[in-house]
Amino acid sequence: MQNKTGKISVHTENIFPIIKKFLYSDHEIFLRELVSNAVDACQKLKTLSSIGETNMGDAPLKVSVHIDKENKTLTIRDNGLGMSAEEIEQYINQLAFSGAEAFVEKYKDKADANIIGHFGLGFYSGFMVASQVEIQTKSYKDAPAAHWTCDGSTSFTLAEGSRTERGTDIILHINEESAEFLETYRIQQLLSKYCKFLPITIEFEEKAINNTHPIWTKKPSELTDEDYTSFYSELYPMAPAPLFWIHLNVDYPFNLTGVLYFPKITNSIDAEKHKVQLYCNQVFVTDNVKDILPEFLMLLHGVIDSPDIPLNVSRSSLQSDTNVKKITQHISKKVSDKLKELFKNDRADFEKKWSSMDVFVKYGMLSDEKFAERAQEFCLLENTQGIFTELKEYVEKVKIAQTDKDDNAVILYTNNVETQHSYLQAATNKGYDVLKLEGILDNHFVNYIEQHFEKVKVKRIDADSIEQLIDKGTTRESVLNEEDTKKITALFESIEQPKIKLTVKAQALAPEDSFVAITEDEFMRRMKDMSAMQGMSMFGDMPTSYNLIINSNHPKATSLLSMDEGKQKASTQQLIDLALLSKQLLQGEQLTQFINRSIDNL
Ligand code: ADP
Ligand code: MG
Repeated sequence: MQNKTGKISVHTENIFPIIKKFLYSDHEIFLRELVSNAVDACQKLKTLSSIGETNMGDAPLKVSVHIDKENKTLTIRDNGLGMSAEEIEQYINQLAFSGAEAFVEKYKDKADANIIGHFGLGFYSGFMVASQVEIQTKSYKDAPAAHWTCDGSTSFTLAEGSRTERGTDIILHINEESAEFLETYRIQQLLSKYCKFLPITIEFEEKAINNTHPIWTKKPSELTDEDYTSFYSELYPMAPAPLFWIHLNVDYPFNLTGVLYFPKITNSIDAEKHKVQLYCNQVFVTDNVKDILPEFLMLLHGVIDSPDIPLNVSRSSLQSDTNVKKITQHISKKVSDKLKELFKNDRADFEKKWSSMDVFVKYGMLSDEKFAERAQEFCLLENTQGIFTELKEYVEKVKIAQTDKDDNAVILYTNNVETQHSYLQAATNKGYDVLKLEGILDNHFVNYIEQHFEKVKVKRIDADSIEQLIDKGTTRESVLNEEDTKKITALFESIEQPKIKLTVKAQALAPEDSFVAITEDEFMRRMKDMSAMQGMSMFGDMPTSYNLIINSNHPKATSLLSMDEGKQKASTQQLIDLALLSKQLLQGEQLTQFINRSIDNL
């Protein structure tokens, strides 16, 4: 064979500075690209052997990675199909560069490291970390070994090589600023990040680092629960066992496999750490799946593998990509099907796990209409007695027992059984059912219910006196006459409130209901809570206004009016403080004064 030097055919002069600049932030992906090429070479050989084109022999196919610290080289070696000199010319010198050209054309302004492999540019990513790249290769065909070198300019040399066995060595002469890639721990880390599930054995330091048959490539019927849980700990070594999982397997209209796990939600920091991982033919691509999965599905763990998720388009256009849309719809459907199945098969178990699923299901309902429709059947509501009811059924139940004079069914809830105890007592005394809605999304969820069920209102138990919360329209006879009602109202109004704005309202309630109570308008409170959660100030900055409800039918109302002026004032002050206290509103100096006063009166 004749030695050769030449110019790499490329119209865009000096491609490397451009590639380097674009991909600066993600140099490490060179290893993924070169190892995937080596894996491809092995897979291709396997295919050729299976159709009788060649005999690959008995030696198992494998890829190995070697560090030579002294010579400052990193070598990726495979015993795949190899290349002849002609093939190097064709695949490395010409083809890759036409890919490079298209790449530069398309991404003059923006680039994402993930697209590199998709432009036939994978091989050249080696130049991000190497001052010189060598290929020593021998084809499975009867052709002399070839040796190619290139220093990152557009010149190369091609000569007879030294390799005696079939396969390829890619030798990277690691440049000074990339010395980290000569460190064992760093290569180990990268291999386990990108190559953990590649289909051909990858060796580093004489040890295989990968699982060549991860469970998502197998049929669900071949797998046991144990297989799924142990794969989960392979993915997330420290995480507690998952609640359940979904095996995805789609071949039409797109290709997608994967296993999604439902985590046991412990705290949000963990949820952040264990992300869904995206693979493309078993090569790790990213765990930033923000544009591929709807946000609520990102609370899940596991892997998705799809050659059809277009990585060769910019991130911003991913969301509008029709394949991506179909994929997310499909996953969302699968997830709701699975939840429904679990609910139908073992309701008791489902209820036990509900607290871990609550946020997920509600998030899904709030962000995905289709998911919401399906979820109405299994979205559970828990009341203060710990009884669970499906959303749809609960609404029906409330329609029978808790309807007001205008035919609105009223759902009552508490977000804190302890601090709202007196309000809860009032509701249970009336025989009403009260839900526990304590989650971070429940304000939004309550809006969802009101918007999706006709003539249904949702009210927190401290939003009004119980008779007003579900107004049956029966006006009670007032024990106090009009004049006395005015008097008692004025009495409460005369006590100055330094911090809180109280609107005093006298209501003729049941004599056994609370004498005085603080309430907070449902609508305003909800708006305020929600904007506070979103960090918006529109409602958040508004002063909260509370109502002070006086039960004019309470036996003590008459006694209060008949007291002498001094005692009357003191008692009124005490009554307001007690009402504030039971809503956790009595604080600071007022609280201290209240305590001192109470002790003085002992
Ligand atoms: P792509 O993998 O997308 O085709 P690359 O730039 O990564 O693009 O590689 C270009 C081509 O070089 C490959 O398609 C393949 O034909 C050849 N090649 C690269 N590495 C190897 C290898 N280790 N063994 C055999 N052929 C290889
Ligand atoms: Mg490649």
